[in-house]
Formats: sequence, C-alpha cells, structure tokens
Amino acid sequence: MQIFTQFSEIRAFVKAAKMQGKRIGFVPTMGNLHEGHLQLVRQAKQTNDICVVSIFVNPLQFGLSEDWEQYPRTFDSDVEKLKGENTEVLFYPSESEMYPNGMQNQTRVFCPTMTDILCGASRPGHFEGVTTVVTKLLHIVKPHEAIFGIKDFQQLAVIRRMAEDLCMDVQISASPIARAADGLALSSRNGYLTDEERLTANQIYKSLQWVQSQLASGETNYKQLEEAASKQIEAVGMRIDYFSIRNAKTLEEAVSEDANLVVLAAAYLGNTRLIDNVTITL
Ligand code: AMP
Repeated sequence: MQIFTQFSEIRAFVKAAKMQGKRIGFVPTMGNLHEGHLQLVRQAKQTNDICVVSIFVNPLQFGLSEDWEQYPRTFDSDVEKLKGENTEVLFYPSESEMYPNGMQNQTRVFCPTMTDILCGASRPGHFEGVTTVVTKLLHIVKPHEAIFGIKDFQQLAVIRRMAEDLCMDVQISASPIARAADGLALSSRNGYLTDEERLTANQIYKSLQWVQSQLASGETNYKQLEEAASKQIEAVGMRIDYFSIRNAKTLEEAVSEDANLVVLAAAYLGNTRLIDNVTITL
C-alpha cells in the first residue's frame, strides 16, 4: 500500500493511473477503522481498479465543545487493516496540508435547509465542515466513485445533494450499516462507552426496528410512534436528541403520501452521542 501525505503526490499517482485506464474508488474516513469502514473499502474494490482511502480527523466538522481532541487516532492499526484488504493507496494529510490558509479563512461549501435539521440542529456548522472537506478531498483525489456509509444517513443525503447541486463529476455510492452482533451500529465513538453503557447501547436499534415493524403493519400515527420509541430509549438511561420519521430523499417530516421513509435517531449515553437509522418502503 502506498501512503501519501501531500496532495501533489496523490494527484500525480491518480493522474498516472487514469492514463492507464484505471477506475478510481475513494473512501473518505476519520480513521480508527472498524468493520464498517472495511466494508466500504471492499465495495470500492469491487467496482474499481484502485481503492484510495483517506484518513483525516477533520477539525472543521467538530464543534468547540465536541470530541475532536479526544477522537481516537490509531494510525498503525488502521494501516494494518487497510493492508489486510489490499488497499492500494492511503491518503493521510496533515491539518496544514488540508487548511494551508488556516481554518478560519477556508472557503466553505454550504448546503442549506437540509443541514439545519436533525444532526445539523444539534451540531451547528458540522455539515458545513463535512461538505467543505469532502469537496476538497474529491478535488484532490478526483475519483470516479466515492463511497459513504448509510450509518450517517443525513451526511450521505447532504453529500448527494451537494454533488448534484454543484454538478460534481463523481458517482456517490452508499454502503449498508455494519452492526455488532447485538445490533449496535459500529462507530468509532462506541469506544467511549463504558462496559455498562455498552450493554444498553443497542436500545436505539431495537426501537428503530420496533418502529419499522409498526410502519410495516400499517401504523400511520408517526408522532405517536416517535414519542413511544423515544420513551423506550430514555427508559434505559439515554438522553434523546431526536427520533424522527422522515422522507428518505428530502429528509422532510414524513407525510402519509411518502413511500420511502427513513427513521433516524440520535441519543446520548453518558457523554457519547450515538446515531442510527433504518429505512422502509411502504
Ligand atoms: P467516519 O470515519 O466515522 O467519518 O466514517 C467514514 C465513513 O464510514 C462514512 O462514510 C461513514 O458513514 C462510514 N461508516 C462509519 N460507520 C459505519 C458503519 N457502521 N457501517 C457502514 N458505514 C459506516
């Protein structure tokens, strides 16, 4: 596996590979890789000749009171995992490589309305940080395809909207949610959970599945379902941020005419913020 830290290096590599007719798949990550990330890598390798993975804990997408400093950085074991998947290239830029003019002066990419709600409501500026860094990475790597996890459903929807709105010449693909045996969606932040917290963390998924089954059996009172599910999650000691049934494309609150729904949840367990979702077609 080749490791590049400068964008001049990765640009030269990708340019040469494209001249040889190679198709480039790209998986952006913040590292601390788990099975969910590796699934994205496998998907990228299936439909491309070369898989480029990036690791960058993007400070621009963290709020001031959030966990940027604490975020797990596990470069050596990440490299081993990527080698285990026969990843061709790792792009591992420094903060000064990504933000040479400083974060405050960085030109931003902003996707309105869709980023004011759900995670965007409780994490102001988060999605602006995401769309800005993803735009930069796509300009640096210039892949044919970029793969994102459905685990971060809103992020995927925002990136799809951005790519469409800005006429980006890249295929945005989605990869299913990788889960632990008890259903908890894999996340780098799961490592923050105490042993005791870990035992109840899968309640979010249990309640999402319960709502999914209620919707499948014809329940149409969305507000009541959201409230009941929130109570289930709070009953095991979590603090609900949101639990919401939405239109899967627009992320607007679901109405009875909507056929493609997504049920999204975010909750705090101790200091750890967990998110998860399920989709359903009625
Ligand atoms: P992160 O390192 O958390 O920024 O995630 C990098 C990419 O991996 C994003 O596209 C995430 O949506 C995706 N991802 C993270 N966790 C999972 C998971 N459990 N299943 C599938 N994709 C995931």
